[in-house]
Order: sequence, then C-alpha cells, then structure tokens
Amino acid sequence: MAVLWAVFYLVCKKLFKNMHEVYMRRCLDLALLGAGHVSPNPMVGALLVCEGRIIGEGWHQRWGGPHAEVNCVRSVKQEDRHLIPLSTLYCTLEPCFHFGKTPPCVDLILKEGISKVVIANEDPNPKVAGQSVQKMRAAGIVVETGVLAQEAAFLNRAFFHSIRFKKPYVVLKWAQSADGFLGRQGERTAISGPWTQRLVHRWRSELDAILTGTQTVLTDNPKLDARLYGGKNPLRITFDIEKKISAEYNILDDSAPTWIFGPMREGSFQQTEFIPSDSPVSLEGLLNRLYENNRATLLVEGGAQVLTTFLDSGLWNEIRLIEGSGSLGGGVKAPTLPEGLVLHEQFQVDQDNIRIFLKR
Ligand SMILES: [Zn+2]
Repeated sequence: MAVLWAVFYLVCKKLFKNMHEVYMRRCLDLALLGAGHVSPNPMVGALLVCEGRIIGEGWHQRWGGPHAEVNCVRSVKQEDRHLIPLSTLYCTLEPCFHFGKTPPCVDLILKEGISKVVIANEDPNPKVAGQSVQKMRAAGIVVETGVLAQEAAFLNRAFFHSIRFKKPYVVLKWAQSADGFLGRQGERTAISGPWTQRLVHRWRSELDAILTGTQTVLTDNPKLDARLYGGKNPLRITFDIEKKISAEYNILDDSAPTWIFGPMREGSFQQTEFIPSDSPVSLEGLLNRLYENNRATLLVEGGAQVLTTFLDSGLWNEIRLIEGSGSLGGGVKAPTLPEGLVLHEQFQVDQDNIRIFLKR
C-alpha cells in the first residue's frame, strides 16, 4: 500500500511540475510580446490559473506602462473575479517591490488575496532582489521559484546583463558570403536576401541602439532604421572624427535619435547629438554612455574594423552571423569567429544560413 501511495505521489508531483512548466511557457510567450517596447525594463508575462482554467493573462506592454501582473489581474472577467484568491499567479519574473513608474506589484498580489505564486526568475534589481518573495511568504502565500528559470533568463539576458554589469548587452551582427567576405572593397554589396533583411530590421526594432563604422556609412549610406519590420527605430550611432560624412548622408538626416562621435556640425539638428571625442573612441566610454542613457542593448552592424575592435576588446555578448549562398571571390575579409563560442541556434531564411552564437 505504501508503495502505491509513493508511486501516486511521484506521478502527481511530476504532473504538477509539468503543468507549472506549461503555464510558465505561456507566460514566456506573453512576455515576448513586449520585445522592443519595454527596454531597459525586462519583458514579463503573467497568468492567473484557477483549477486548470486560465482566468487572466497579461504582459508588460510598454516602458512606463502597467506591469504584467497588473494587466493580468485587470484582464479577469467580472464573473471570475471571485476566483482570484483561489488562483495561482504565474510570473516570469519576481513581482516588483518598489515604487517605480507604477506601485509595487507585490502589494497588488497581497490586496487581491492570491494564495499561490509561481515565478521563473528572482529579480536581480537591487530594489527587488528576493524582497517580494520574502514579503509574500511572510504573508502566508505559497511561493515557488525557478520554474523554467533558464528559459526565462535567456529571454531577458540583456536585462540581466545590464543590471549586473551596468553596461548594455552587445550583439555583433554581420553578413558574409559563402567564401567569407563582407563585401567588395568600397562598394555596396548585397550578401543576404530580402527575407533576411526583414529579420535584421526586426532585430533592430528589438534592440535599443545600432552602431556602424564610418567606412560602412560612406560605402552603404544606411538608414539604420527598422522600416522593413515596422517596429521602433533604434538610436543610431557612428563615428565621424575626421568629418568625412557629408550632410547628404542618411545618418545626418535627423530623422531619428542619432549620436555622432565627432566635431559639431552647422545646421539645426533636433535629434542628432554631436559628441566631441578623441580618435579612437573608447568602447568602454561608449557603453557607459549608453547605459547612463537607459539603453540596455547595442547592435553592432560593422564594418570589418568596428567588428574586429569589439571582438578584440571582449566587450560583446552575442554574435548573429548571416551566411549568404553566393561567393564573391575576394573583397573585405569577414572577421574570424573567436574561440569558445556556444552555438545557440541555427536556421535557414530562404538562401541564407543564420547562426546565433553566445559567449561561453
Ligand atoms: Zn511590478
């Protein structure tokens, strides 16, 4: 009999753990809907589940707006409101403890009388850092942490990095031909196809700032926006120490927030900031400036010199490498991949092979 009970207990335990993961996966999907809208805050999703039925769900939709838990509670229908105290709240991140742009979510949970809370990650922000978990447990709420913790930490890897190191999370991106060239010298060269370009614009919309070198500006005259995806445009950054970029280049069109490291220019600029700087610009200083200006992520889109400088400095976190199917037979050599990378993901977009590497 005892053996039967033990088996029954183990089966139930496994089943509940799996259900926790099923609901947390839904929370992660919800959290992801905030991509590109909430930085430097984390992406967060929340779910209220009562006896196997989801009665509410929400996510952090935009920076400064209500948190996931608030949206989740607000989404519960009037006829289900009496079920809230009987429900389990699933949340990808520990609810906040502090007054920010909104009141603390931990107080909302206490006020609503929620009896159980399941969390993926504790919030590393020193203003939270386990205090909400403590407060809820002290109030008699059953709190479980660590459900799908790895997946949730990966989703918010930029947030975790920026909080921990007080620096933005740096993504290096380049496209190379099948024979390892970035392009022909001094000539705009298409490597990737139109679908990949849309994906790159999505990445741009999800990251806070984009940096490219002077030579790439002069060769490609990029707009550095997210027009092919339709999301938010990142802060554009380039170097112009020797004033080589003339006024007709897209990056000087003042159409988006832009930082130019170099001497001041004549003209009326509303969104373009000129930052006096020595040559070469200190990457450390650049990253500090981004962090101080609430930018938690930076996308570096070449060229060869800028990418190599970042790779050599070690001040990067992720590489997104696009490999086209055509060969160039010569030109500007693509950077060599550093050692000790972890291949996180590999997929095909039309003719292009895309690999996402993380630093070990
Ligand atoms: Zn909150």
